[in-house]
Amino acid sequence: MSLFVFGHKSPDTDSICSAISLAYLKNKLGVEAKAYALEEPRKEAKFVLDYFKVESPEVLPAGAIKGQDVALVDHNEVAQTADDIAEANLVEVIDHHKIGCLSVRIMPVGCTCTIIYNLFKENNVEIPYEIAGLLLSAILSDTLIFKSPTTTELDKEAALALAEIAKVDYEKYGMEMFK
Ligand code: MN
Ligand code: MN
Repeated sequence: MSLFVFGHKSPDTDSICSAISLAYLKNKLGVEAKAYALEEPRKEAKFVLDYFKVESPEVLPAGAIKGQDVALVDHNEVAQTADDIAEANLVEVIDHHKIGCLSVRIMPVGCTCTIIYNLFKENNVEIPYEIAGLLLSAILSDTLIFKSPTTTELDKEAALALAEIAKVDYEKYGMEMFK
């Protein structure tokens, strides 16, 4: 059985990048997993996928998660998730938003991808170039290149390390991404 990983409806950069990165990490750890999007990714997320030459996740087909293991990223509220979430087997939530209706563990950081970066480190899994690019993009997006008051030291630490792997000047790249 493969784990379904997806972010919220109207997927932003963090929802897309955290889903792809978590599925990648799970696979590396021997867990079959695949990233999905609940809808077509927003413009900025499409730019990021294009930039790092990563395929957009398949849009979750209706009824696909019935009886399946599911991991939610970048959201935890029922209103933001798949309509048929109640029929799925919810096994994991990785998020940085305030707790909605589900029982979850949350890290108070600026972005879901900061948490996923730390999961890679904890599990000693090497972060490849394009995954680093996706994680970095989401952190820059959610923290508005560290200008958002939600930014934490952990977000900055993660972004600086990821920018090195992704071989980009994070400020220049971030500005380009926001355009
Ligand atoms: Mn989001
Ligand atoms: Mn987010």
